[in-house]
Amino acid sequence: MQKRDELYRGKAKTVYTTDDPQRLVLAFRNDTSAFDGEKVEQLDRKGMVNNKFNHFIMTKLEQAGIPTQLDELLSDTESLVKKLDMIPVECVVRNIAAGSLVRRLGVEEGKTLNPPTFEFFLKNDALHDPMVNEYHIQAFGWATAEQIATMKQLTFKVNDVLKKLFEDAGLLLVDYKLEFGVFNGDIVLGDEFTPDGCRLWDKETREKLDKDRFRQGLGGVVEAYEEVAKRLGVSL
Ligand code: ADP
Ligand code: UDP
Repeated sequence: MQKRDELYRGKAKTVYTTDDPQRLVLAFRNDTSAFDGEKVEQLDRKGMVNNKFNHFIMTKLEQAGIPTQLDELLSDTESLVKKLDMIPVECVVRNIAAGSLVRRLGVEEGKTLNPPTFEFFLKNDALHDPMVNEYHIQAFGWATAEQIATMKQLTFKVNDVLKKLFEDAGLLLVDYKLEFGVFNGDIVLGDEFTPDGCRLWDKETREKLDKDRFRQGLGGVVEAYEEVAKRLGVSL
């Protein structure tokens, strides 16, 4: 496999084409952004930690029968993945109230949600990723009813697998964001699952061990990601 041209430079990763039209390289950078790219900083080791963390989690999800982009860990900061035709929506499941839910509904942070909730957001920084529903997604042709149903079902299946995985490591999976794409006609999990895109709290103390440390200026961001990786047994 030969890495070719830069296809896209996102806020946290750079995407490269390869000599295989069905494969891409995802390069995880140290750039860390929040508030739709308004706050950006370089955090040492973050690219490496997230690349290995993502590979570990996607491997667990594959083993649980969830189709993922996973192909091969190439280096400390790069992974080979299936090239997906990305669906431009984010799928968010919440087990505990935090973040935009708390701001939007004025509810108390930390309340356990029963049942866990599901939300779609449109991937569009200029519009601040507005919440959309299944009608918008179909009406604008971002995904079909069948694809929507599959994304929801897979996002909840990820919750079953990862809630337990994190719980066994002394962590609460508060909420997370997934992105899906289409590969040979099938819905496949793409992008990443890392502490950049989920909330993880210590089970006992409820200390935040995710990107909220960056958003809220709490410091120790990468150290927290490394702590989570250590508890899960991710080799860094
Ligand atoms: P953003 O675009 O939000 O700034 P990133 O810096 O993470 O985010 O950039 C990665 C980009 O690559 C995203 O636009 C994401 O949708 C896309 N992407 C992630 N995984 C895949 C994949 N397997 N195939 C094609 N595109 C992908
Ligand atoms: N999230 C993400 N990318 C986004 C928006 C949200 O990875 O563009 C993640 C976020 O880290 C959290 C979950 O999705 O784990 C829910 O985020 P929320 O809607 O609460 O928004 P936030 O306040 O985090 O911007």
